[in-house]
Amino acid sequence: MRRRFFAVLWVCLIFAVFPFTAYSGEELFQYSTIDALLAGVYDGQLKCGELKKKGNLGLGTFNALDGEMVVLDGQVYQVKVDGKVSLAPDSGKIPFAAVTSFTPEEFLPVKKAANLTELTKIMDQGLPTKNIFYALKIEGRFPKVVARSVPRQTRPYPPLAKAVEKQAVFTFTDVEGTILGFRCPVFVKGVNVPGYHLHFLTKDRKGGGHVLDCVVENLTVQVDPIHKFNLVLPEDREFYRLDLDKDKSSDLKKVEK
Ligand code: ZN
Repeated sequence: MRRRFFAVLWVCLIFAVFPFTAYSGEELFQYSTIDALLAGVYDGQLKCGELKKKGNLGLGTFNALDGEMVVLDGQVYQVKVDGKVSLAPDSGKIPFAAVTSFTPEEFLPVKKAANLTELTKIMDQGLPTKNIFYALKIEGRFPKVVARSVPRQTRPYPPLAKAVEKQAVFTFTDVEGTILGFRCPVFVKGVNVPGYHLHFLTKDRKGGGHVLDCVVENLTVQVDPIHKFNLVLPEDREFYRLDLDKDKSSDLKKVEK
C-alpha cells in the first residue's frame, strides 16, 4: 500500500516538473479576424479588462472603430482621431485586438538610420524563420515616426478601406516612445495581418497611432518568438452572417499604408 502511494506520488511529481504540454511559452491571443474588421464589423463583445488578462503588449481598435489601440506595459491606450491619448476603461469593448505576454528573447540592433521598409528588411534577415509569430518592441528616441488614427464610425458602418479615407496622420520628429506590434506569417492571411503590423506610443503617453512610417537609428528591436496562436471568434449575429469567403488582400493593402 505504502509502495503504491509512493509510486503515485512519483508520477505526480514528474508531471508537476514536466507538464504534459507540447509548448509552454507565451501565446498570441487574438479576438476576431482582420477580414471581419475590413468588412466593417466594428463592434465586438470583448472588454478591455479581459484583454489585459491575455497579455501586456499588443494592438487593435475599439468599438465603432474609435481610434487605434496600443497595449503597453499592461495598459490599454486609446489614440483617437484628434491625436489625443487616454487610458481605455476596462468596460470598453473591442472588435479586433491581438496581445501577448511580452518576454523578449532576441535582440536585433539597428545601427544606421532605417525607414520602415529598411527596418522590416533588417528584421526579416535577423529572424530565424518566417513561419512563426513574433512580438516586437523598439524603445527609445526616434528621428521620425509617422502614425495615423481613424475616425469613430456610425451605423451603417462602411468597410475599413472607406473609413480610413478620413484618417488623421501625425508626424513626430525626434520623439521618445515605443514602437510595438507583431510579425505574422503569410499563412495567417484573412485572420491577421501577414508581415508587420506596428503601433506607436510616445513616452509621455500623449501621442501615437498605427505606424505608417518611421526612422529607427541606434536602437534595438526586442523580439519575442511565439509558437502558439489563440484565436477567439465573436459570438454574435453580425459576425455569423458575414461573407468571409472572398480574398481581401487588396483592401488590407489600402488600409495599412
Ligand atoms: Zn494598426
